[in-house]
Amino acid sequence: MLIKFLALAAIFFLIYITFFKDSNKEVQSQRKQNKKSEPKGDVMMECEKCGTFVSEDEAIIKDAKFYCSKKCAGLK
Ligand SMILES: [Zn+2]
Repeated sequence: MLIKFLALAAIFFLIYITFFKDSNKEVQSQRKQNKKSEPKGDVMMECEKCGTFVSEDEAIIKDAKFYCSKKCAGLK
């Protein structure tokens, strides 16, 4: 019974992919374009403690100051 259910699920999944593949691709490409247009991620922040430059996304913010790692931020 479980195998039959899985087979049905696979068939429905294939039908879904066949019918919605194009629209999904459009959505994905739009998302990629949105990511590219975002300037965020290239901003480098200097660590308050050791002076290492880290990207804004990776930086740890504590008391409105940037740190390169949890160690520098004094977090455990
Ligand atoms: Zn640091």
